[in-house]
Amino acid sequence: MAVDTPARIAILGAGPIGLETALYARFLGYEVDIIEQGRIGASVHDWSDVRMFSPFHMNCSSLGLAAIEAQDPEYQAPAKDALLTGGEWLTRYLLPLAQTDLLNDHIQQQTTVVHVGRSQLRKRDLPADDSRHSADFRILLQDADGTERIGTSDVVIDTTGVYSQANWLGVGGIPAVGERQLRDQIHYRLPAILGDQRDRFAERTTLLIGSGYTAATNAVALNNLISETTDTQVIWLTRKPAGTGPIRSIPDDRLPERAALTAQANALAHGSDERFRYLGETGVLSIEQREGRYHVEIAGDPGETLVVDEVIANVGFRPDLSLFQELQVHQCYASEGPMKLAATLLAQDSADCLDQAATGPDSLLNPEPNFYLLGSKSYGRNSNFLFAHGLQQVRDLFTVIGDREGLDLYAGMKHLG
Ligand SMILES: Cc1cc2nc3c(=O)[nH]c(=O)nc-3n(C[C@H](O)[C@H](O)[C@H](O)COP(=O)(O)OP(=O)(O)OC[C@H]3O[C@@H](n4cnc5c(N)ncnc54)[C@H](O)[C@@H]3O)c2cc1C
Repeated sequence: MAVDTPARIAILGAGPIGLETALYARFLGYEVDIIEQGRIGASVHDWSDVRMFSPFHMNCSSLGLAAIEAQDPEYQAPAKDALLTGGEWLTRYLLPLAQTDLLNDHIQQQTTVVHVGRSQLRKRDLPADDSRHSADFRILLQDADGTERIGTSDVVIDTTGVYSQANWLGVGGIPAVGERQLRDQIHYRLPAILGDQRDRFAERTTLLIGSGYTAATNAVALNNLISETTDTQVIWLTRKPAGTGPIRSIPDDRLPERAALTAQANALAHGSDERFRYLGETGVLSIEQREGRYHVEIAGDPGETLVVDEVIANVGFRPDLSLFQELQVHQCYASEGPMKLAATLLAQDSADCLDQAATGPDSLLNPEPNFYLLGSKSYGRNSNFLFAHGLQQVRDLFTVIGDREGLDLYAGMKHLG
């Protein structure tokens, strides 16, 4: 059923996709509340030193550029082929976008969404019945000082991403023995190895776990530290079969930065420098801290206990499903993304995220009327999400919300020259 303006839309998370979703909604005349647990673009702040693979024209929308230019006629957009760092993406696009009059007054920062339900209805009431839409959404929010309050809305769009919730590093994806006690000390993201946190890694031994691009980025940074110091050591551990990758390379990769990182990281894994040791086909069984060092027992025949100073586990992220536990959301049992979208992505079965075709409005629907998952969270544990996919989702979603087939606000706007 169409939701007409001026209905109220709650957008959970002020990341890149939350901002773009809110902007589109504002252009159409909806009331929006954007609720952000930290600061605007919090996840991107965390990887602000990392250079993006995708050029700027894939990381902005025509609507976003138009809104910023209307606000600030002096605005100079980055060149369309520029490969920005996360920090540059923030300062040159995402923050100016958030500061436009269309969005600025609608963002509540330092406010965490704890749970979303419906007034008068429980999860088991009216299964998959469209009439559930007549009960408002009831959203439990927590402010920075711990105060709790309730927000309400007609539509909820969850764009809270996955970056807040790292996977466990143990064999089988469950916590290694002892990991839960050390959760706050293990690095699960991108520590500033060559920046503020250099002293934690220089002249010390680091265990790096994982075989994705984040692990590759950390491997290259750690190797730079090896070349700048005398006794920095790295042990890189993955479950990939010996003799492969460990980073999967994409034939004729159209993203040169990604191809270069892959080649560099794989060369390190198979290099001869004793200070950089690579162990494939293994995983972590247990981890314990004794006298300031980690003792890490790894699987294999024979197994081994590694003694290291720091542990970086780049083992992926997963969505926080607790937010919508009281709603009727059908999730994929493998990816934990919403079922229809997960099935569409599975059918596309492409190794390269650039090949991902638009999944269409229908893939965004789930049994709970007027509740949607967009952005990286909608891909669940599938790490192939690109910002450009999120823009396709935003466009498709508003054809559903307003029941306006073919609506495309992006098409009518000026594109980067
Ligand atoms: C190192 C790195 C490099 C990348 N490079 C590229 C690239 O080159 N090109 C590309 O397209 N993509 C890239 N990505 C993927 C990129 O993260 C996404 O394209 C984009 O950030 C996803 O945006 P999002 O809004 O879905 O999620 P996020 O950026 O994760 O935003 C989610 C927001 O929700 C907030 N939030 C979370 N939980 C709550 C809660 N309970 N209550 C309120 N707020 C909450 C978070 O604080 C955050 O601000 C990269 C990712 C990483 C980690």
